Amino acid sequence: MAGPTGVWHYVQRVMAIRKVSIEEGCIACNLCMDLVPEVFLVTGDQGCVVKEDAAEHFDSKAADIRQAAADCPVEVIKVED
Ligand code: SF4
Repeated sequence: MAGPTGVWHYVQRVMAIRKVSIEEGCIACNLCMDLVPEVFLVTGDQGCVVKEDAAEHFDSKAADIRQAAADCPVEVIKVED
């Protein structure tokens, strides 16, 4: 069974997300869109954007959004709790 630290990390992963944003520097690798197409949209000329209705999925996709932020090769996905 997970100890206190493991439980905290689990809670952090599924904790509600307040805001997701993309800083400058996206290289349009598509990783985030492959993980959470409900939230991220990669377009050829703009790079990655957060979709307009993305907030509807912040609760149900919290773990995947955090995974995308952690895996983004240029670390431009910012998640606010
Ligand atoms: S994972 Fe990062 S670099 Fe790749 S498309 Fe998403 S924001 Fe851009």
